Amino acid sequence: MAKYVLEYLWLDGYTPVPNLRGKSQVKEFDSFPALEDLPMWGFDGSSTQQAEGGSSDCMLKPVAVYPDSARRNGAIVMCEVMMPDGETPHPTNSRATILDDPDTWFGFEQEYFLMKDGVPLGFPTGGYPGPQGEYYCGVGYKNVGGIARTIVNEHLDLCLDCGINHEGINAEVAKGQWEFQIFGKGSKRAADQIWVARYLLQRLCEEYGVDVEYHCKPIQGDWNGSGMHANFSTKYLREVGGKTYFDALMAKFGENVEEHIAVYGPDNHKRLTGLHETQSIDKFSWGVADRGASIRVPHSFAKGDKWQGYLEDRRPNSQGDPYQIASRILKTIAEVPTP
Ligand code: ADP
Ligand code: MN
Ligand code: MN
Ligand code: MN
Repeated sequence: MAKYVLEYLWLDGYTPVPNLRGKSQVKEFDSFPALEDLPMWGFDGSSTQQAEGGSSDCMLKPVAVYPDSARRNGAIVMCEVMMPDGETPHPTNSRATILDDPDTWFGFEQEYFLMKDGVPLGFPTGGYPGPQGEYYCGVGYKNVGGIARTIVNEHLDLCLDCGINHEGINAEVAKGQWEFQIFGKGSKRAADQIWVARYLLQRLCEEYGVDVEYHCKPIQGDWNGSGMHANFSTKYLREVGGKTYFDALMAKFGENVEEHIAVYGPDNHKRLTGLHETQSIDKFSWGVADRGASIRVPHSFAKGDKWQGYLEDRRPNSQGDPYQIASRILKTIAEVPTP
């Protein structure tokens, strides 16, 4: 037997976007615990906007477990929040709204800023750095200066150690802005991994006195905002596809613009302006290789008139909840019958 430190993570009840919360418990196991071995746990919902003080218990139901290389015998336990009966999902439990399908694949591109003392890393005190241009995938101190690269590389290692399907990193268009990509087969799996990757990044940055800013437009003016492009494919899209089905799917996305925008992250009107590689928030469009469209159709999708593969919804923003985003995309897909 050995003692394991289990960090139970959940999403609180703050709106419009939840915060991560976590607390540790120590338990003995023969070896690294499987999901079935992990007990439910409780917390004080009155401190997380999930309950009233008079009846404050909420339950944590483990739904995924990852080894945590930063702690001795550490495990990260992603949880859903349940009502005190342990069986009914709490109203804030967005993961429980996903109609999951292991054949639906999601790839999220999480953009964010690293901030020190309220300004992006590399911004001079009291001023602005040179205009955007050389920062994207930039190299060298003047472009990605400070401890940014140390942080993003350590974050990558932590994710890989955890078994998270981290796919890569790039410095983004604005100074101090970065991106990582996570891909998962099964929408819950992909969305769980985004939340755990966010957790690892925030926890790592505590050590550096750096904050992770997920707001979609933290710097006013001619500075890119942050998105979380949602790339998705169903088995049908990957294996059958076709222009008729694609047109029907895009028509349905077009009918549901408000429903999608409602869960694509707060303040998105500040980012989806039609500038900086975005479409306006009130318009819907798709285009092959078009970074100014709501949905970008990769060349590989339209190639040979097959209309097959994955699509990129560019509207979700960096602060969005991937559970709500995936849930909404799957709902729209489910409204389109496959021939
Ligand atoms: P870009 O910045 O040009 O949009 P990225 O490489 O950053 O491209 O992101 C592409 C994303 O598409 C990745 O997250 C990847 O996992 C995802 N992706 C690739 N193939 C599929 C697929 N078949 N289904 C879902 N997502 C996919
Ligand atoms: Mn990208
Ligand atoms: Mn990007
Ligand atoms: Mn993209």
